[in-house]
Amino acid sequence: MSSVLKFYSDTDLGAIEARPFKVFNERSLEKIPQLAKLTEAQRFEMKVVASVLPFRVNEYVINELIDWSDIPADPIFQLTFPQKGMLAPESYERMAELHRRGADKAQISALAKELRDGLNPHPAGQLEMNLPRVNGEVVEGLQHKYRETVLFFPSQGQTCHSYCTFCFRWAQFVGDKDLRIASNQKDQVLGYLREHPQVTDLLVTGGDPMVMKTKNLAQYLEPLMEDDSLAHVQTVRIGTKALTFWPYRFVTDNDADELLGLLTRLVKSGRHVAIMAHYNHWRELETPIAREAIRRLRETGVEIRSQGPLLAHINDDPAVWARLWKTQVQLGIIPYYMFVERDTGARHYFEVPLAKAANIYREAMKQVSGLGRTARGPSMSAGPGKVEIQGVAEIQGEKVFVLRFIQARNPDWVQRPFFAKYDEQATWLNHLKPAFGEEKFFFEDEYEAMQAGSG
Ligand SMILES: *Cc1c(COP(=O)(O)O)cnc(C)c1O
Ligand code: SF4
Repeated sequence: MSSVLKFYSDTDLGAIEARPFKVFNERSLEKIPQLAKLTEAQRFEMKVVASVLPFRVNEYVINELIDWSDIPADPIFQLTFPQKGMLAPESYERMAELHRRGADKAQISALAKELRDGLNPHPAGQLEMNLPRVNGEVVEGLQHKYRETVLFFPSQGQTCHSYCTFCFRWAQFVGDKDLRIASNQKDQVLGYLREHPQVTDLLVTGGDPMVMKTKNLAQYLEPLMEDDSLAHVQTVRIGTKALTFWPYRFVTDNDADELLGLLTRLVKSGRHVAIMAHYNHWRELETPIAREAIRRLRETGVEIRSQGPLLAHINDDPAVWARLWKTQVQLGIIPYYMFVERDTGARHYFEVPLAKAANIYREAMKQVSGLGRTARGPSMSAGPGKVEIQGVAEIQGEKVFVLRFIQARNPDWVQRPFFAKYDEQATWLNHLKPAFGEEKFFFEDEYEAMQAGSG
């Protein structure tokens, strides 16, 4: 347990060697040596689920993060490997039937597409409402939902070093072109930023932008340092799960040093640079290479902030979050968000009722010092904004959820407490009803008008 509290010494690091990136997908699932331990039936289930939901896992995750003596319960196994319960029973059965009778690829793809379409591939109106335009033309690969912050999805970063089974961006990985939000239109993106001086934050996301070669990432970030018309972009955030799935990216990969150099220069240019690290479990922080990657990143002057969803089968336990946050604080990572699993993909497998989520959050908070209490949540990234469940209260005899917007389409909605009827089963904002006999939440009329206006 004392290993939680230390960085590895140079001697330990002697054991770290560059390694080639080797990855398995649904076609090579059978070649993963550890799966030989499973029964034929278990392997079949995985194959069925992997023909609908994206599957990709690399050797580091398989060999060093998963505890194979504890499957299927192991949280990292649940995080990366398909499980039968991730599909609704009737969907599972239909796909299993095709595999049993050796259906051809075309039939499997057609059913896969039908089943995916039923899984709300673009939650919270991502496609319709958030596409920025320049001269009436949609700028591909950008989302601008909140005034200060533009999300950018570089086209070369639309994959990850492994895939999370609960991914809310899963639709981008399954090769359905209509569902992809991607871009290589660097000039358009920089043009959009130039025309929007209210934008202070650029959030580079994916997939995982850290799958990109440093030179590709640099073509987007260098101009910020060279071009005065982009001086208003003060903060650069990079969303990534590479610290978990491929920490070698920051240590031994060919262009790791070049990447750290780029980040150092960006920091020296006066930018706040934040690595928005996606973490779900403290186990992701325990290997020597993961620690070394964190140490090297922090040396560049970037901040590492952590965020991740609360998930059944992976981390629906206050002790897991308390240890995650404590370890992060110890390693110099700032806890930022606890998310509620979004209403897409395999959500039924992972979802945790809001009432339970609020309780897990509070029980975890109780166990950490103030420096670990910087994580806000549990927060739902819904159409109108990020809505946090602040807690459960009883007001004049009525049990209610106390809610607030952490972030909203209209900045004026932010930080106003509002109330919903307590509901033990509710798992998302659209299940909640206003408390105290009111008909609508305060923001609903305005939000509906925004939706109608965006056509
Ligand atoms: C969360 C999010 C952001 C960033 O919001 P912050 O509150 O600044 O962290 C920006 N855009 C979208 C679409 C988001 O979901
Ligand atoms: S790292 Fe992020 S984008 Fe990639 S699979 Fe996981 S949740 Fe999805």
